[in-house]
Amino acid sequence: QVPLKPGRSLMDWIRLTKSGKDLTGLKGRLVEVTEDELSKHNKKEDCWICIRGFVYNVTPYMEYHPGGEDELMRAAGTDGTDLFDQVHRWVNYESMLKECLVGRMAVKPIAAPKANILMTLLFAGVLPEKKVLASSAKELSPRIHNKIVILVVLSKLLTLSLVFKSSNYDWFQTDSLITVVIYTKQKDMNAELVIVDCQDKQLRGEIIMDDHSYLVEVDLEHAVLEDVAVNIAEKVGKVEIILSKKDNIHWKMLGQPREGHNTFIKCTDRGLFYRKCKLVSKTEVTHDTKLFCLMLPKGTHLRVPTGQHVYLKQVIAGTEVVKPYTPVLPFLPLDFQEPPHHDGVHIYLMIKIYSHGLFTQALDHLQIGDYISVSNPEGNFKKSHVQTSEDLLLLAGGTGFTPMVKLLNFALTEVSCLRTVKLIFFNKTEDDILWRNQLEQLALKDERFEVQFVLSQPSKEWVGKQGKISSSLLSEFVKRSRRDSKVLICICGPAPFTEQGVQYLKDLGYSQEEIHAFTA
Ligand code: FAD
Ligand code: NAP
Repeated sequence: QVPLKPGRSLMDWIRLTKSGKDLTGLKGRLVEVTEDELSKHNKKEDCWICIRGFVYNVTPYMEYHPGGEDELMRAAGTDGTDLFDQVHRWVNYESMLKECLVGRMAVKPIAAPKANILMTLLFAGVLPEKKVLASSAKELSPRIHNKIVILVVLSKLLTLSLVFKSSNYDWFQTDSLITVVIYTKQKDMNAELVIVDCQDKQLRGEIIMDDHSYLVEVDLEHAVLEDVAVNIAEKVGKVEIILSKKDNIHWKMLGQPREGHNTFIKCTDRGLFYRKCKLVSKTEVTHDTKLFCLMLPKGTHLRVPTGQHVYLKQVIAGTEVVKPYTPVLPFLPLDFQEPPHHDGVHIYLMIKIYSHGLFTQALDHLQIGDYISVSNPEGNFKKSHVQTSEDLLLLAGGTGFTPMVKLLNFALTEVSCLRTVKLIFFNKTEDDILWRNQLEQLALKDERFEVQFVLSQPSKEWVGKQGKISSSLLSEFVKRSRRDSKVLICICGPAPFTEQGVQYLKDLGYSQEEIHAFTA
């Protein structure tokens, strides 16, 4: 992120897009753009970029781009889809840039989600609707496998790094139930890897397998009740999605396949899916930070894994705005006998409300009972990093504390080889420290855990540590409990805090593998 000039905030941009000003310079016309034409518009004062086959004139947006003009210019006059997906595929550019739309590419560039298209085409051709959803899918298996072979050959030809683990699905019924079974053949399948949404006769079941996702997506033939149950046979990787029929009638088919049905593609090639969640409570944590409790719809099965975030989406002044937030626990459990019981229904978010913040101001104005869209989880943190560590060090700045909450709990509850867990928590003032009491209680309760608060703008009364993240401060606190102990250091906070912290840690001799930085 770069500092933007005054009058160049996201809200200012939204206002400009609503002003009726001609932002494309084409007086409302849409044109077909050739690659040759696109490449000519490669200067700051005349800059076109193609994203997923649509071309935008981004010159008017330059000064409003939070990542800066130079970052935007990297894609000037070209297809910026891959670059966009790498940096922020979650940003809703269609909504943000709709007034900058110049037109479509004359020939669709290949950089659009390749695997997605490939899989959709293949499965569309391979599995005619009625056959896909026939009540006995057994007969389909050989056909699917044939096509998997073709797919693998094709994907190799196209050098797509697709490893297909021959997942498949089936469905059956009783008088009152419909059960969809997905055979992932993946060991260690667990509830966090299965995301199900069943609303308004639409079923969407997504299974995460490493960095790929398998999807069952169907318009159901008949209505079902709101509740959905998910059973997982972890060892064999069998997932059952159980729906209750609204009427006790015999279903001839499961339903009609939707666009993404029966596809197995990279997670990053799948669009983010949102469901509406109800705000059930809002509790003060500090003077400016609140704990929001959201309730998932009845037909949703979703567990956000440790270290991952979700995206919230709100329509602000007619434009869809999306921001990431990291779910926490309702409180820090002090009893580590068992993994925390997840009620499966609530998502807790600890969010700082900025007085000039576009999204957080809108969030703060939500009333109990209002709805907000919540996405599927994302993030590249791997729990396995913690599972093999002996010393865990957590460096948090402000709300950068949020990923540490579940991480701390996971480490103290489920990682037996961990000997020390230390949180170094950087804040401006004492009043800004999140869950100070709970952290201190936890340190008293569990001798493996230690917390150190560091303030950058302390009052005169503060007798604790003061300063900012620095090499000397880190060398004082970040230590291995034994000379050769396995260490993991996780860091999260304002972007410059995280960047500097990582650099200091490297200067102190910690390797890249020993550091995990939470970023966007
Ligand atoms: P903005 O409108 O973006 O502004 C925020 C503040 O910064 C305002 O005071 C504004 O004036 C100032 N500002 C904004 N842009 C600039 C700029 N370019 N130059 C100078 N000042 C600027 N936050 C949480 O509270 N809890 C979480 O759990 C959480 N999880 C996150 C997870 C991830 C992966 C990431 C990347 C961020 C997370 N955040 C979290 C931050 C969150 O996504 C938002 O950025 C934050 O809520 C601010 O949004 P906003 O629209 O209200 O503020
Ligand atoms: P804050 O209160 O402004 O700052 C927290 C501490 O960090 C303060 O001590 C502050 O010191 C210090 N700090 C701020 N900028 C710094 C810099 N450039 N160099 C060194 N130290 C710096 O923080 P916040 O408002 O809560 O913001 C938290 C940030 O964490 C947000 O940017 C949010 O996006 C990010 N976050 C990221 C994730 C993720 O997963 N990626 C999750 C949650 C939050 P001074 O300001 O006094 O210098």
